[in-house]
Amino acid sequence: MALVTSLAVNLLDPAQDRQGEPVQLVWDDQGVIRQIIPLPEDQARELPWAVPAGVDAHTHIVSEGVHLARALAGSDAVPALARLAPLYHQVGFVTAIDAAVLPEDAPRVHRWVRQLTGLDVGFLVLAAHHPAVLREIRARSQTGLKHVLQDLVGEAHAIGVKVVNPSGAGRAPLTSLEAPGPYGFSPGEHLRRLAEAVAELSWPHPLHIHGLDLGVPGNVKTTLEMLQILEGLPVHLAHLQFHCYGQAEGGGLASGAAAVADWINGHPEVSCDVGQIAFGDTVTLSNDLALQARLKSRHGNRWAVVEGEDGGLAAVPYRYDPKQATNAIQWAVGLELALLIDNPWQVFCSTDHPNGGGFWQYPLIERWLMDRGARDAIYRQFPKEVRRQLVLGTIAREYSDQEMAVFTSAGPARRLGLQQKGQLGLGAHADLALYARTGSRLDWGRPTAVVRRGRWVWDGRETADGQRCPASLWRLAPSARVEEDADDV
Ligand SMILES: [Zn+2]
Repeated sequence: MALVTSLAVNLLDPAQDRQGEPVQLVWDDQGVIRQIIPLPEDQARELPWAVPAGVDAHTHIVSEGVHLARALAGSDAVPALARLAPLYHQVGFVTAIDAAVLPEDAPRVHRWVRQLTGLDVGFLVLAAHHPAVLREIRARSQTGLKHVLQDLVGEAHAIGVKVVNPSGAGRAPLTSLEAPGPYGFSPGEHLRRLAEAVAELSWPHPLHIHGLDLGVPGNVKTTLEMLQILEGLPVHLAHLQFHCYGQAEGGGLASGAAAVADWINGHPEVSCDVGQIAFGDTVTLSNDLALQARLKSRHGNRWAVVEGEDGGLAAVPYRYDPKQATNAIQWAVGLELALLIDNPWQVFCSTDHPNGGGFWQYPLIERWLMDRGARDAIYRQFPKEVRRQLVLGTIAREYSDQEMAVFTSAGPARRLGLQQKGQLGLGAHADLALYARTGSRLDWGRPTAVVRRGRWVWDGRETADGQRCPASLWRLAPSARVEEDADDV
């Protein structure tokens, strides 16, 4: 197996504030960086550029629902385990966090992780409606709630907890979050108690929230109310694009991205991933069964469901069509969010794979954010009635290389507590994507090579040997640090 021990590069590493310095990176046989030797400036022109390899903070690749979605929609939309690593490598990513594992499915998920190669993975355990969680919230026992969360995450070997539509099932959309919910407390209290518990436990990753009213016109009102309820508490908002819709005259979608971005700009305790959509066929997969039931009746009445203690998961095929006003607005809202949130450490790349489209479409998102002309070419084709609901056409910002490295890697790694990922300092894993440069910009999109833990996994044309190295699972250790999982469930 090819083992690289050193590589000369121009290092772009936002976490170390290196903006393209010529260095020799040296790592040991475990792929851990041990030396960073400065090189003379005059060598810089010859060297490839290295950025920390991508970290996907919110995807669905190993949970029970993924297999269900593949059975329903086929392996083009939902790749088999063996294709995941090559597809991630081709877009410069080597780490991926599955955001929706039912607690009782954890042992099966571990089995699937053992079949994976070439990736570092972790997962979040679904906890909002677990009977023990509901019991402790109802009993107003914060200590009890913390113990339950520790047990759920610890037993599953997860890195944190995710909540989906807390107290939202059966609730009338757009009603106040402080109105009584189905479990004897309001959705607002449900969220606040869980976010407080995770904050008090000092876990690296805050409460990971799939909010209420996903996809509902006008849901920006709910999202802003939720943010007010949670003000001051660290939280991560998943696939935020799907939660930032205003309501146009006549009831359709309008963009609500500006108001949410404004809030986030004033609240450094909040992070989000975009949940950008890409046009084409995919399959949606969610623990939000009410939402999935609505989609199913709108899109041909096909779905597949698994039920579990936290409600279950449902898969529904879906096509994002730029000629549909709803889909055009969703596409623009995701980009508006990413462009209007000032600090790239607060907003991360995701399509909520496969919900907004496959993760292999990340190069498109990178292009749309870095090149106003590329996104405007799509935007200009939307009818006037659609453009009127958006602010995208007025946004001039283009992401810099530095900002893109934060958005795809440094930001999510830090927020997830993955200390050896998303950076290329001493002690970090030698996980890096190499890019050529044209003019003053890196050629984001297709890396010329990718290295995971010091081994080549992608050489720009085909999969390299290192791709066959086993996957690693990351979990929250009892010390409340995210570490590689040495044991097994
Ligand atoms: Zn998701």
